[in-house]
Amino acid sequence: MRAVKLVGPGTLQLAEVDVPVPGPGEVRIKIAGAGLCHSDLHVLEMGEAWPFFGGTVGHEGAGWVDALGSEVAGLAEGDAVIVNLVWGCGHCRPCTEGRDNACRVNGSRNLFPTTPGLGPDGAMAEYMLVPARQLEQLGAIDPVIAGPLADAALTPMHAINSARDRLTPGSTAVLIGIGGLGHLGLQIMKATTAARVIALDTDEAKLAVAREHGADLVLPSDSSAAQRILDDTGGYGVDVVLDFVGAQPTVDLATAVVAPEGLIRFVGLGGGRFPFAADADSVSLPWGVNAQRSYGGTRADLLEVIALAQQGKLVVETVRYPLADFQQAFDDLAAGKVLGRAILVP
Ligand code: NAD
Ligand code: ZN
Ligand code: ZN
Repeated sequence: MRAVKLVGPGTLQLAEVDVPVPGPGEVRIKIAGAGLCHSDLHVLEMGEAWPFFGGTVGHEGAGWVDALGSEVAGLAEGDAVIVNLVWGCGHCRPCTEGRDNACRVNGSRNLFPTTPGLGPDGAMAEYMLVPARQLEQLGAIDPVIAGPLADAALTPMHAINSARDRLTPGSTAVLIGIGGLGHLGLQIMKATTAARVIALDTDEAKLAVAREHGADLVLPSDSSAAQRILDDTGGYGVDVVLDFVGAQPTVDLATAVVAPEGLIRFVGLGGGRFPFAADADSVSLPWGVNAQRSYGGTRADLLEVIALAQQGKLVVETVRYPLADFQQAFDDLAAGKVLGRAILVP
C-alpha cells in the first residue's frame, strides 16, 4: 500500500509499504480521508528538532473497519469510524478524570500523549492500524470528510468547553484565524453558545468563510483590530479569546482585547510570546485573566463533536486531493490557499 512518510527532517515521501496486519485488540482501517493540519507544517519546519522519524503522517483519519484483530468486540467490517486523536492509557489519574489529553502514562510533562501521525503510523495511507478502543462510530457521517472532526473540530471544542461558563448570553468571544480549526470553532460557538462572535483573519477569503458560518462581526486581523474590538465592547474588552494562530501579532491582539476576568485559549503554535508582569501596577494583563495553552481534546469532546456533526450543525469545508498529490496539498496549505480543510483521499 502507499503511505506518506516523514522520512527525515522536513522531508515527506510517498512510500510503498506492506498492508499492516492487526494484532490482538487492533483494527485495520481502510482510510477514506485524512485531514492536513497546520501542525503537520510545523513538524516539517522543526526539522531535526522533531523527535520522531519514519512514521506515516496524518492525525485526522476516518474510514471503514477493514479487518479485526483478536479480542476486538463491538466493531464489524464496513463500520464507518473515526480515529481518536490522543491515545491516552485510559487508567491513569488524568485519564480517569476525563483529562485523557493530559495522560501521564502515554505522555509526559512536556510531551503530549501518543498521537497517531505524530509518532505512530497515522492516516495518510491506504490503511492504518488502530487500537480498537481509539475508534468511534461515525454513523451516517461521510468518512471521507470526517477526519478533521478528530482534531480541527475536537481542539476548538475542547478550548470552548474549558471556557463555557463565560460564554453566556451577552458575552463576546473573539476567534482569531478562520482556517481549518477556526471555521469549525466558529460553527461550534454558534451551535452551542449564545456568545456574540467576532472573527478575524488576515485573508479576505477566510473572512468570507467566517461570514458564511454566521460570525456576528468579521474584522481584518491588522493593526486596527484591537481598537475596533475595544470600541465594539465599550472599551471593556471581550470575555473569551480563542487564538488559532499563536503568532506574535495574534498573541498581542488577544492580550490587548481580553476583559478583566477574561479567558484566553492559545491553540495556534505560531511562535508568539505571551507577556506577563506580576507587578502591582502591571498593565500587561487585566486582573483575573485566565490564559491556557490548550492541547487537543478529550474523548468526551470527540463524542460531542460527532454528535454535532450528526445533527448537521458542524460542516467540514474541504478541499480534496488524491493521496499521490500530498505535496500539492502541503504546499497549498502553507500558501494559505486552503479554505476549510485539505483532505487526502487514498
Ligand atoms: P490553517 O492554516 O488552516 O489556518 C490558520 C489561519 O490563520 C488561516 O486562515 C490564516 O489566514 C490565519 N492567519 C494567519 N496569520 C494570521 C493573523 N496574524 N491574524 C489572523 N489570522 C491569521 O491552520 P490550522 O490547521 O487551523 O491550525 C491553526 C494552528 O493551530 C496551527 O498553529 C496549528 O499547528 C495549531 N494546532 C494546535 C493544536 C493544539 O492542540 N494546540 C491542534 C491543532 C492545530
Ligand atoms: Zn493537528
Ligand atoms: Zn492515562
